[in-house]
Amino acid sequence: MSESTIFTRILQGEIPGEIVAETDNVFAIRDIAPKAPVHLLVIPKTQEYRNVVELAAGDTALMAEMVEVAQNLAAERSDGDFRLIFNTGAGSGQTVFHVHAHVLSGGLDETSLGG
Ligand code: AMP
Repeated sequence: MSESTIFTRILQGEIPGEIVAETDNVFAIRDIAPKAPVHLLVIPKTQEYRNVVELAAGDTALMAEMVEVAQNLAAERSDGDFRLIFNTGAGSGQTVFHVHAHVLSGGLDETSLGG
């Protein structure tokens, strides 16, 4: 078993984090460095997928569950419109290699594409 990622440690209560939604397979937290009025991270409970490419190849139902959670959060916390970003690879800015979707909503413009 690989070392726990920072997101697994938040899920397990080992380090602080604000869990704002949870389903059987997915949880969501508030990003510690928000880039939009609403900036959440939707994360599978499993850390077996390092990025969205691995997730899409391995479990499309889990990926769909992440999108559904993202949509529900944007509807609850903003106007329902949202941007979903999966940084993939260090060159894209990915720093945590436990797949996660950035959900950005509210006050978006073309300059806030990055996570
Ligand atoms: P990425 O750069 O796509 O891998 O995204 C990782 C995200 O995790 C960044 O936007 C960070 O701000 C966020 N992050 C890192 N540590 C924490 C934490 N302890 N709680 C909440 N968000 C975090």
